[in-house]
Amino acid sequence: MLLGYHVSTSGGLHKAFQEAEALECSAIQIFVGSPQMWNTPIVSPKEAEKFKQEWKKSKVKKVLVHSAYLPNPASHKTTLRNVSLKKMKEEIRIACAIGANGYNFHCGSNQDSNIEGITLTIQTLNRLAELSDEKYAIPLIIENDAGAGNRIGDTIEELGLIWEGIKNKKRFGFTLDTCHLFVSGIDVRTKKDVDELLAKFDKLIGLEYLKFIHLNDAKFELGSRKDRHANIGEGFIGLNAFKYWVTSPKLKNVAFILETPRTGNLKEDLKDILALKKIAKSR
Ligand SMILES: [Zn+2]
Ligand SMILES: [Zn+2]
Repeated sequence: MLLGYHVSTSGGLHKAFQEAEALECSAIQIFVGSPQMWNTPIVSPKEAEKFKQEWKKSKVKKVLVHSAYLPNPASHKTTLRNVSLKKMKEEIRIACAIGANGYNFHCGSNQDSNIEGITLTIQTLNRLAELSDEKYAIPLIIENDAGAGNRIGDTIEELGLIWEGIKNKKRFGFTLDTCHLFVSGIDVRTKKDVDELLAKFDKLIGLEYLKFIHLNDAKFELGSRKDRHANIGEGFIGLNAFKYWVTSPKLKNVAFILETPRTGNLKEDLKDILALKKIAKSR
């Protein structure tokens, strides 16, 4: 089972592997710049090389780059979609330079309607694939969103509609975030819930395209539309539910990433990983 955290890169991208080691990660997620800023830092070839060297020495098998929070591929504003494309392309270039296994992003939101949001998301993502096809062809990973406001891609059905419009499907993959599913009103707590959800994903998209799972408990209730992650077993999803996720034979090729609250004390922060490893073995 590939399992790990979203880790910090403060002090340089390669620092990710220090935290990864302390947190016993075999998969990690990182930001390549400040997630709240439009400008993207320059990553020199030397820095990228350093990252690859540290990666080689570590137990990490997969690195996922999460986009900044600002891009909005579904926006009704053309200018915002265009700067989003530019920003995403810059981050993809870095993700590619460090040899990451994917670039994870959200579809964003649309003020006018969901249908328009889906149409514009498809347009933006097809363009993004074109722009990065030749030199930066790493997997573009669409993450399901938490269904607050006019967020696009909060249900498997909506992800399926986006998928229908994607031209170059082999460039794309998906991440499902358990907290986002749950607060969007999709129950994920029983084996039946997980099996049905994965069957639906398989029917509308294809399980071979599901590459990552964000394992997060939820601070708020089913359908609450409030996206606040909780530590594993400390939220409304509960420890038992995660057992079905980490032991599902349908997810054996998927990497699991935690985005749960951190204390800053790495020994203490290890507890979510240890809890998941324990329930994975107790099947
Ligand atoms: Zn995300
Ligand atoms: Zn997530």
